[in-house]
Formats: sequence, C-alpha cells, structure tokens
Amino acid sequence: AGPGVPVHQPGSSRLPCKPAVFIPVDRSPEIQEARLKLPILAEEQVIMEAINENPIVIICGETGSGKTTQVPQFLYEVGYASSDGAIGITEPRRVAAVSMSQRVAKEMNLSNRVVSYQIRYEGNVTDETQIKFMTDGVLLKEVQKDFLLSKYKVVIIDEAHERSMYTDILIGLLSRIVPLREKKGLPLKLIIMSATLRVEDFTNNKKLFSVTPPVIQVDARQFPVTVHFNKKTPLDDYSGECFRKVCKIHRMLPSGGILVFLTGQAEVHSLCRRLRKAFPFQKNNTAGSLVIFLSQVLPKIDLDNYSVVPVDEGDEDRDTETDDDMAGSDTDLDLGDGDSEEDEKSDSSLPLYVLPLYSLLAPEKQAKVFRPPPPGTRLCVVATNVAETSLTIPGIKYVVDCGKVKKRFYDKITGVSSFRITWISQASANQRAGRAGRTEPGHCYRLYSSAVFMDFEKFSAPEITKRPVEDLILQMKALNIEKVINFPFPTPPPTEALAAAEELLIALGALKEPPMTGRLKQQLAAKLSCPISPLGRVMATFPVAPRYAKMLALSRQHDCLPYTITIVSAMTVRELFEELDRPAVSEEEAAELKGKKARFLQMQRIWAGQGPMQKLGDLMVMLGAVGACEYAGCTRKFCEENGLRYKAMLEIRRLRGQLTTAVNSVCTDAGLFVDPKMKPPTEAQATYLRQIVLAGLGDHVARRVQAEELLDDKWKNAYKTALLEDPVFIHPSSVLFKQLPEFVVYQEIVETTKLYMKGVSAVEPEWIPALLPPYCHFGKPLENPPPSYCPETGRVRCHRPSVFHRVSWELPAVEV
Ligand code: ADP
Ligand code: MG
Repeated sequence: AGPGVPVHQPGSSRLPCKPAVFIPVDRSPEIQEARLKLPILAEEQVIMEAINENPIVIICGETGSGKTTQVPQFLYEVGYASSDGAIGITEPRRVAAVSMSQRVAKEMNLSNRVVSYQIRYEGNVTDETQIKFMTDGVLLKEVQKDFLLSKYKVVIIDEAHERSMYTDILIGLLSRIVPLREKKGLPLKLIIMSATLRVEDFTNNKKLFSVTPPVIQVDARQFPVTVHFNKKTPLDDYSGECFRKVCKIHRMLPSGGILVFLTGQAEVHSLCRRLRKAFPFQKNNTAGSLVIFLSQVLPKIDLDNYSVVPVDEGDEDRDTETDDDMAGSDTDLDLGDGDSEEDEKSDSSLPLYVLPLYSLLAPEKQAKVFRPPPPGTRLCVVATNVAETSLTIPGIKYVVDCGKVKKRFYDKITGVSSFRITWISQASANQRAGRAGRTEPGHCYRLYSSAVFMDFEKFSAPEITKRPVEDLILQMKALNIEKVINFPFPTPPPTEALAAAEELLIALGALKEPPMTGRLKQQLAAKLSCPISPLGRVMATFPVAPRYAKMLALSRQHDCLPYTITIVSAMTVRELFEELDRPAVSEEEAAELKGKKARFLQMQRIWAGQGPMQKLGDLMVMLGAVGACEYAGCTRKFCEENGLRYKAMLEIRRLRGQLTTAVNSVCTDAGLFVDPKMKPPTEAQATYLRQIVLAGLGDHVARRVQAEELLDDKWKNAYKTALLEDPVFIHPSSVLFKQLPEFVVYQEIVETTKLYMKGVSAVEPEWIPALLPPYCHFGKPLENPPPSYCPETGRVRCHRPSVFHRVSWELPAVEV
C-alpha cells in the first residue's frame, strides 16, 4: 500500500482503518471562532487517538461542551466518512436529531444532502449522506435489515446517560456487532457519549464489553450557578408559579436569558401566551406601526431602542394555536385568571422575546432559540425536558425549574401506559441548574423546597427496568436473538418482565410455542428462548405495540385494514367523547347536553346496524364517531354539536394517516388510500373485526359469572378476568353495560369505586380456542391427562388454571 492508504493487518487488535487523510472543511470565521471556545476542541487529539486505537470509546462531557456537534466533524475531517460508509449518530429525541443535523451542516458549510437526519416518519437522507443523525429507534430498525450495519463506519450513541430503552439495546447489540465487523475485516467504530460520568453500567460490565473501553473526560467550562429554593411547600400550580418567577426576574434582574422548564407542550404554549401578553413584543412590517404599537402598550419605554426588528415572527401566535390544538389538551383557561390583574400589568422597560421549545415543534421554530434575540429584548425560552441535556441554548443566565417531568408510566395490572407528571431526579435538577452557567455565573430558581429536593431519587432508573418489554422482545426476536435472557443488557430488565413479555408474545402467536408439553414446556418458556414465528416477523414491522400489531397483521383479510387502523388509532387517543351524562349547572346546559346526547345516539344509530355491529360494542362507537365526524369534514362545529372532542378527533386523523402510510410500506400491495372518509363496515366485517380484536387482546378476555358460580352478592353482574382475583364490571358508559354478553374483551381496566372494564366488545366463546389456543388447556381440570378432545360430541374441555379462576367450561365445537 502506498502512503496515505489505510493498511489492513488481519488479526491485528489495532484497527486497520486508521485514516491518513485529511478532508478540508470550509467553515466561516464566526463558526470557527465559536468552535474554538468549546471545551471539546482542546481534547480533539486525545479523542481521535483513542478512537483510532480502540474499537469502542466512551466520551463524557458536560452538556454544551460540544460532543454532539464536534465529534462527527473530527471524524469526518480524518476520512471516517466516505462513499462506502457513513458516520451515524443516534439521539433519543427527535428534536435533537433534526436540530443537530442542521447545526452540523451549517458549521461544516455542507448541504443537508450530506449531513442529514432520519426520524420515524421523515428525513432528508440521500445517496450522498455522510453524516446521519437519527433517533435510536431508527437505527434499531436498520439493525433488523442489516445486522452488521455495513452502511456505517462509525456509530455514535449520543445521550447515553438518558438510558432510553432503545439506546440501551443498541449498546448491547453493538457490543456484538463491533467484534463481528472486525472479524470480517470491515471494522466499525463505536463511540458512546454521555453528559454525566456515571457510566459504570457500560464499563463495569464484562458481559457487555470484554475489554473495558477507555473513558475520555472532557473538562467542563462551567460558571458557578447560585441555586435558590422556594421556601414554601411546592404548589400544584407550578405553571402559575413559573409565570410569577419569570415576571420578577424580568422586572428586577440584570440582562441575561431566561430558561423555564415545564413538562409538556400544552403547558409550554400556555405560559408563552401568558408571558407575551404580559410583556408584549410584536413585530410588524414597518417600523412605523411597530412604534405606534409599542407606544400604545408600553408607554414607559424608550422607543429609540426598538426601531430595528426582524420581521419573521408575525405568524407565531396563529401557529401556536394550531400546535396547541394538536396537543390534545386545553389547560390554559384557568391559568391566567386569579392573579392576572396584579401580575400581568407590566412595568418592565424591556419586551420579552418568548419562544417555546419542545420535541414536536417544527424544526424552523426550534432553530429560533439558537439565534440571538432581537436587539433590546430579553430572551425567554419556555421548554420541556429537551433543554435539559439535548440542546444547549446560548445566553441563558436564569433557569426556572418547576421540578417536574412528564413520564410514561405502566399500570402493572392492565399494562396500559399513561403519561404522568412526577418529580425529577436530583441528577436532572442539577443538569437543569447547569444550563444557567454556560457563559457567565447564573442563577437557578427551583420552585420547590430543599427538603423536597432531598427526597428526589438520585438518578432516574434506566427506562428498560421500568416498563413492559413485549415490544422490545419482539424486536429482538426479529433479530433472531432467541435467548433474550443472555442478551448483554447494560442493565437487564427484571426477569418477571421478560417472562411476562415472552408469555404474551407466545399467546399472540408472535413466537413459536415450545413443541413439548407439561413441565418441559414450561421450563423452556421459562428460559425465554422461543423463536419468532412468521406472524411475529410481520408484526415486528408495524410501528405499534404487539397487541395492536397483531390486529393489523390479521386485517389484510376481508378489507378490514381501514377499520382496524381506525380502531387502533382511537384506542391510543384518550378521551374521545365529551362527558354528556355529567350533572348540568343550569337548565340551559341540561338542555344542551340532552340535545348532544340525542345527536350522539342518532349518529351511532346511523352507523351501527344490527347484531354483529352492536356486538362490536364500544369499538363500534369509536368507529362510528370517527366515521361520522370525518364524513362531516371533521369540523370543530360538528364535534361540539355531537359530543365529540375535537382535539381527539384531529389526533385520530393524524394517527390514521401515519399508520396507513406505515402499513402501505409494509404491505406494498395493500394499496390503502390515506382518505379519512370511510363507509360503515358490513355486518360480516363487524364480525371479523370482533375476532381481530379478540386475537390482539387475547389476555383481556373476561367471562360473566354464571348463576351457579355466584359466590356472594358482590359477584352479581360481575366478570372474571385472567389477570385479577377480584370481580370486574362493564363500565356504565359502555354500550354493552345492560346487555352483559357472556364473553367480552376489554381494552383496559380502570379502578374507581369498582374495577371497571372500558372499551368492551362481545366475543363468541367458540372463537377462543380457535384464535387463542395458548389460553386454552385441552384437558380435564385439576388432573393432568393427555390433551383430550371428544370426537363424538365435537367438544373440547377448556381449562386454564390461571385464567377464569380455576373454572372450566365447555366450548362448542370449533370449525377448523
Ligand atoms: P453537547 O453535545 O456536549 O451537549 P453540543 O455539541 O450540543 O454540546 O453544543 C455545543 C455548542 O453548540 C453549544 O454552545 C450550543 O449552544 C451550540 N449550538 C448547538 N446547536 C446550535 C445551533 N443550532 N445554533 C447555534 N448554536 C448551536
Ligand atoms: Mg449533545
């Protein structure tokens, strides 16, 4: 090999692709200057040497030290990206993937055909792409298509401290992919980047990496941040408290940007609106009208300071309205009132330049937080958790931290997930505070007391240990990782969670059942080593949870796909309907509710025909509501008149579009149209839909308690389920409340005065052994004879101890 050509030495532990090239990058002087201020630049040589000499390197450095934007550039400059292999960077958040790809393209003066991003439903990757930012989920899907990730020469796992589930799995997978690539003579570099030094799960883990990777620590250049705790016990209205705090900072403290941490998109918008109202800042096309406008609302300010203002902000408010609508929540009405008179009368001499920041914000709008605020204004960014470590906003001197975060929780009983607002960890609180000391000493205002802070958990636990893992296990099995229990997880999920997932996936038919019976079979299942089935492979390609994926996979038959897509979307969105049975506060309201109820029922009658349609129960109500609403063009007016929640309907429309696209890309011959309008299903389709739903929600079957089994009064009209000892009931809001079918499937169980099933459909008992054989044990109860099927009567005895309270029942003959 001549000079400059990488030398390949087979068997060498040194990686052969140490590049000897230097690819010039044409950066502007301003960018060059800004880069030189980043702490990571001082470490460039150390980092690159470590990368050249080790297949796996861990880089730790404070948020803002330049890891995400600079490391890909270091690699690019020495030739790690080329036509036969790109640099891939994963981010747990979409907002970071998009924004970082734009930033790096800009710094390197390259087009986004070369520095690109890919997130779940969009991206700008081309054949020329050499640096690719993506969400961790995207890379996981790519591993399924090409286990060796041969498109990449380097994979960077960013934000590893967040310990998102996909990040953890990718690190486990890459620990195996890297040696495989080396064996093939096509070495892959793995770089793990973290904002904290807490990386023992990756380094002290022989199962993961046989050779401990070097850890490079980038020194922080952090200014001191003074932390101020609230004295009072924390308030529920933290949003209002944030508002008051920002007002005070803005009126009383010297210049410097403010960053507020809230928990969700709707809260962010509502605070933005309130702050804009309190400290108006309006741009206009002409300086003249701007001056007039300002002179009306801010009589005290010196107008000379405000004559030059950029013009691109005019539509901000209108757009935020739309965003808020999409958020599916309407929280802001009650926020402003109580204290508005006192607080919203501003006497500040400066307008406040208020910007929202959250994950789903359009990229152009995200980018605004990085630009300097218009002259003569103070920047105030109202953000969700994305500003904690993913994005560093320049010029922040004050941080207001509500101490809360919105997190997904999983109900152990029903497995249903929901978002809840909880306290953050101490590590998060400190990260948030750190945002104030990037360019000069700063202040952090915590809206909670120091006693509360001491009660926070130190670090938040890795996501994988806290949630059901059936979707993950299915993805892993699709990668032919059969013995999940042997997988090198950085932190393994609890064995019970793995076993529960394996069992559910077997029941759904996504995994092949172990061939033997009895004890051995249980042992094998307990070893968690069932291989994926062909059905499982199809299911793994749909971007929804396995239960729903099964429904979609079965729906190719009888043209059921559009209906299943709608049902799945509707089940994912909460609170579809206005509560029409609520007590009215006035006679007018009572009349209004009555009218809505009548129209709602009429709408349902038009949609739901006879028998099979009505047995589809609450799911038919969902289908009918979406169908009627879309027929009417999905207007706010129609929704309000018929007792539907407009925001929920818009959300369902969006999800249906996304799922239709996803299904079309999996079943290329399905040829579904993304058309929101649909006709009611036929009676036959309604029956198939009940079977489809049963097949997906198999572990959510309930059977009405029979007269002879009535133990006591509390079991009257009750159902038995597979999951609970206690009686459960059909929720009074269900259309099947009075009909009490013998067998039902439910979407979820909610606990109020009793345990109630919601989202109920009736199913026929003979479908159960046909569609859910794993839930049926063909043998006599409480004995252990070989499987028995009675050819004379065509009946099977169905018994499953853990299901239905050790009660067995006769099933009618099943037509095969
Ligand atoms: P780290 O990954 O270590 O947290 P980053 O590479 O994200 O650090 O950020 C380095 C610097 O680049 C920060 O000072 C940040 O403000 C700046 N930066 C990042 N994105 C942009 C952008 N879009 N516009 C301007 N500056 C940016
Ligand atoms: Mg980063």
